[in-house]
Amino acid sequence: MQVLQSIEALKAFRENLGTQSVGLVPTMGALHKGHVSLIHQSCAQNTHTIVSIFVNPTQFGANEDLSTYPRTLEQDLALCESLGVSGVFVPSIEEMYPSADELMILPPKMMGYVLEGFDRPTHFGGVLQVVLKLFMLVRPQKAYFGKKDAQQVLIVQKMLRDWHLPLEVVACPIVRDDDGLAFSSRNVYLNPQERAQALCIPKTIQCIESAISQGVYEVQELHKLVHKTLDSSKSLVPMHIFYAYFCDYNLAPIEKICKGESLFLLAVRVGKTRLLDNLWC
Ligand code: AMP
Repeated sequence: MQVLQSIEALKAFRENLGTQSVGLVPTMGALHKGHVSLIHQSCAQNTHTIVSIFVNPTQFGANEDLSTYPRTLEQDLALCESLGVSGVFVPSIEEMYPSADELMILPPKMMGYVLEGFDRPTHFGGVLQVVLKLFMLVRPQKAYFGKKDAQQVLIVQKMLRDWHLPLEVVACPIVRDDDGLAFSSRNVYLNPQERAQALCIPKTIQCIESAISQGVYEVQELHKLVHKTLDSSKSLVPMHIFYAYFCDYNLAPIEKICKGESLFLLAVRVGKTRLLDNLWC
């Protein structure tokens, strides 16, 4: 496995792979089992897998956790090696953004400024900027994203469609810890009380999933269940619900679940940590 720190090294490495199939797994590091499942899928479907590890400053807001974001590079590299990754791209900020006047990308108006984009209006512009650079540099046939960040994967897929980018984005299932909480690099911020409180999130997702499987499709009814479940959870620490939202794949609100076309998105702050979860109905 090659560790590639510069764009020049990445380009030379990619050139060498020629026409062999390449899968890209973009990450911000602090790798966990969610990332592992993306890497597994890429290794299964491509001759070579390139993982990028870059805590991208342009997707963080001014008051967000850029400086404290967990960084575990040595462990991450050992994990990638053990999984059969061919190359890991670990650029510095200067390497990725050498210009003081970088070209910016605006996300779509309807999809980019609701939900995560409402509270974090510069977030998806930063995501698209880094993802497009990675796509151009790695030129993968497939890139792997988690359904955990549903809005992100839908907006990246929209960029692919609108700009006719010649690759496929594979949306991979959410991986959960034994207690049901979706893996996230930010889970390390949670103290034991907050972690216990956070379990109301997967509980709500499960409740909605089972209601839908029993034929409850009316969003009005499902909303009642969401609030019943969240309200009934023990109040151990301060919690704030940013949104609990039923929508289609364009993130437009819906009144009724349509199987295979609907989403339930949930964002909650537990203590100081913003946690996301969702259900692809
Ligand atoms: P991050 O390092 O948090 O930017 O995540 C890198 C990729 O891993 C993104 O495409 C995420 O959606 C995906 N991911 C993060 N957590 C999970 C999870 N629990 N299950 C599946 N994919 C995940």
